[in-house]
Amino acid sequence: MKYYIQTLGCAMNYSDSERVAAALGKLGHSPAKKESEADLYIFNTCSIRQKGEDRVYGKLMTLGERKQREKDLLIGITGCMVRKTSTKKSPREKMDKLVRDLKPVDFVFRIEDAGELGKILKMAAKKPSVRAINKAAKAKRIRGAAKAAREIVTDSVDRLDYLDIAPKYSSGFQAFVPIQIGCDKFCTYCIVPYARGREQARPIKEILAECRTLVEKGCKEITLVGQTVNSYGRSDLDKKSGHAYGRGFVETLTKSAQLQFAKEPFVALLTEVDKLHAQGLNRLRFTSPHPYDYSDALIKAHAKLKTLTPHFHIPVQAGSDETLKRMNRRYSAADYKKLIKKIRALIPDASVTTDIIVGFCGETKKDFEKTLKLYKDIKWDMAYLARYSPRPGTVSQKFFKDDVPRAEKARRWHALNTVLTKSSRDYNKKLIGKTLEVLVEKYDARTNECEGKSRENKLVQFPAPASKGLSLVGTIQKVKITKALEWNLKGEIR
Ligand code: SF4
Repeated sequence: MKYYIQTLGCAMNYSDSERVAAALGKLGHSPAKKESEADLYIFNTCSIRQKGEDRVYGKLMTLGERKQREKDLLIGITGCMVRKTSTKKSPREKMDKLVRDLKPVDFVFRIEDAGELGKILKMAAKKPSVRAINKAAKAKRIRGAAKAAREIVTDSVDRLDYLDIAPKYSSGFQAFVPIQIGCDKFCTYCIVPYARGREQARPIKEILAECRTLVEKGCKEITLVGQTVNSYGRSDLDKKSGHAYGRGFVETLTKSAQLQFAKEPFVALLTEVDKLHAQGLNRLRFTSPHPYDYSDALIKAHAKLKTLTPHFHIPVQAGSDETLKRMNRRYSAADYKKLIKKIRALIPDASVTTDIIVGFCGETKKDFEKTLKLYKDIKWDMAYLARYSPRPGTVSQKFFKDDVPRAEKARRWHALNTVLTKSSRDYNKKLIGKTLEVLVEKYDARTNECEGKSRENKLVQFPAPASKGLSLVGTIQKVKITKALEWNLKGEIR
């Protein structure tokens, strides 16, 4: 079959999709060049905002029409929208509501069950791929598939197992490496802890093995991904498993390194990955950290480790303590300010970015003014702004009132966006005349322009001759910044 995966949401989802692609490849399926050529369509979904789910529903309408003409087209869903791995043929009580209620959807699977895709697809296929085989064998296989499907709707035994699938990376020089799954923070607006389960660290041995293999193959930039990466190794499940403490790994280290593992597992992990600098790793990033777990040792690691970039994406979500409390964010605006102050004291050129939600339940105009004030004080050089929308199953949807009118949410969003635009332009202007290291990600032959990211995660474009442009992709170039726009920079190769 030819497959097409549409990924929505965070870096973790993009990383998971690479594992889904690898699992499909192992089953003999190949990627479709164009979406319209696919006979298997998979959505890797995000439930953080209504918008993300609406995109899935919208696309399902189009695919539903296509399915009427192409009866064999298979449509599946994974990611945060899914609760139970199941197909249209699962017993009704074990069916996920997406399979039950949405006609075009043939199957859904929890991402932890990606390794079971073979069984799931067999079960989901309207005409199992046994048409050419004699009737008796066919009946036997269907019975087998039905049994398998009954098995796969049960809860996954070990949620980390799917990370063993060697991913089909979408780039040869940049990669996402998952270091944990789930989340223990339970922010009241978020579905992740319910959709993905409690926080659990991936064994450090496996993370390092994946990083090492990537670097051996020429990878220059690794981004460690998870829901709250900097709490790596601190959850109750982690303490039980001992994964993050490197059971079977730390014993090979010096006493002081072992101590660091016990005290600061995430910093210890970064320190180990950083050692790959000697083999060619140039950049190490991570996303997303939680302000609550941002330790002094982690800030110092940014100044000390060669590969760790000076980009700090730390979601604040709101500037009012009352709102932060209702969100269950576990820090105050003052705590957050203190954290950024420490970062800037140690790394003055740091690029600091954030996420903000406007119009959360109970957010008064006064509360919002505090967010606006915090923005003006901190001057993040970039922020991802969202208008609150209640997500079914979350605490805020069940117990709080979505009481900020739509128009008011829009007004707050625009007010913040005006400050953000100015702040981003101001930060970018400061970079004019400086030379930045850019990892070139693409070349556009129509404009003869290369595009890539600086260590500060700034988008930089620069002209390149047609004869050379493509060969620069995947290389690191020194680019002198000549122009600053709101969201990107223009420069010249040196
Ligand atoms: S930290 Fe909060 S917002 Fe982030 S994944 Fe966990 S619960 Fe969701």
